[in-house]
Amino acid sequence: MMELLRRLRGEMSCGQVLEVLQAHLDGEVDAETARKVAQHLDKCQPCDREASMYSRIKSGLASKRRVLDPVILEQLDSFADRLVADGAPPADVD
Ligand SMILES: [Zn+2]
Repeated sequence: MMELLRRLRGEMSCGQVLEVLQAHLDGEVDAETARKVAQHLDKCQPCDREASMYSRIKSGLASKRRVLDPVILEQLDSFADRLVADGAPPADVD
């Protein structure tokens, strides 16, 4: 009975895994939970697929952000240049 309880506590259900999956991928869960989630994903195909889908979306967003940043910086830069070139006075800021 104790062994059964321990096993029940030690293994997460699909619902529990999906609940913490995003936090897990963000590295926001504690080591014990991370271990249990990894253990579950190892054995559970549907959850594993869900996890790789999440991480693909996540890495897609991350790489998009890396590409976007220099563009925005460049736009800000040329905007600043334009302001200077036009001799526009700085905006009234207290
Ligand atoms: Zn599962």
